[in-house]
Amino acid sequence: MICPKCEYEYHEGITVCPDCNNELVTHENFKGNLVNPKDWVIVYSCADSVEADMLKANLEGADIELLILNQNDSSFPVVGDLSVIKLLVKKSNVEDAISIINDINREE
Ligand SMILES: [Zn+2]
Repeated sequence: MICPKCEYEYHEGITVCPDCNNELVTHENFKGNLVNPKDWVIVYSCADSVEADMLKANLEGADIELLILNQNDSSFPVVGDLSVIKLLVKKSNVEDAISIINDINREE
């Protein structure tokens, strides 16, 4: 169990963060939904999970940490955008990630 705000990990059985009173989430949910949004930037969005997985493989191959969010995740509001899958990287990786994605899209 992890606090989505402090990013501390707690033993199973604890449900609320002792520091900030946030509800703890599972490891899986933390990774998918609740990484501090201000540290992450959406670099690409698409409606095709195959494309998202392909880009993920390429970015991770370049040692760029990547999150994939879909529209069901409530932590990122989606307004007027039909794309369902968002690719996020950390701010420090944005330029590298975008150039990799552009290279891949150019090849197609
Ligand atoms: Zn906390």
